[in-house]
Amino acid sequence: MQDQRFPIAGGGIGGLAAALGLAQRGKQVLVLEKAAELGEIGAGIQLGPKALHAFDYLGIGDEARSMAVYIDNLRLMDAITGEKITRIPLDDPFRARMGNPYAVVHRGDLHGVFLRACQDNPLTDCGRKCAPRCWAADHQEFPVTPPIARSSRSRTGPRNCVGTRRCSGPDPNAI
Ligand SMILES: Cc1cc2nc3c(=O)[nH]c(=O)nc-3n(C[C@H](O)[C@H](O)[C@H](O)COP(=O)(O)OP(=O)(O)OC[C@H]3O[C@@H](n4cnc5c(N)ncnc54)[C@H](O)[C@@H]3O)c2cc1C
Repeated sequence: MQDQRFPIAGGGIGGLAAALGLAQRGKQVLVLEKAAELGEIGAGIQLGPKALHAFDYLGIGDEARSMAVYIDNLRLMDAITGEKITRIPLDDPFRARMGNPYAVVHRGDLHGVFLRACQDNPLTDCGRKCAPRCWAADHQEFPVTPPIARSSRSRTGPRNCVGTRRCSGPDPNAI
């Protein structure tokens, strides 16, 4: 298993988190991204305490927390009337009970935290561009590892892609 590389389709927050987790367990990882460059589109992402627990587990919790803002209340509003429906307090008692705060962070900042952690880990290769339809099994440069995750509906399709809704092929120009 040590000399096998785990291919991950998609270098978003999810793909990079999976890459980091595998690399921290000594696995070699290849992240395949179809977009021109690795990055995030969008603005903020809300993170519940469990997300921050997971970040701590991956060793990036402190850095993620350092770029987050913390909110004291979640207010649920009626989308039609604009009236307030309820309020969920997220202040100190919530933080103490949950062991972590409820946070909001810019997606690009969070993606950067994961990307730097992956780039700092010699077992991860995040620099690969692949075609819109990538199939990791086409990449003969490394032995393909048995499936990490695959669709339970797919018995005949590719079995070696992680982190994407659909990963089909073969595509000889994938990388
Ligand atoms: C409007 C909106 C608001 C949201 N708000 C929140 C929130 O507040 N809190 C929260 O926790 N979650 C939120 N989510 C969900 C959250 O955005 C996603 O769970 C999270 O960003 C998914 O990360 P990901 O890396 O799995 O996927 P993505 O960020 O979609 O990244 C997938 C990557 O895979 C690449 N890719 C796709 N197919 C292939 C392929 N075949 N080969 C190679 N690369 C491929 C894409 O180019 C992309 O870079 C929100 C979602 C939406 C739509």
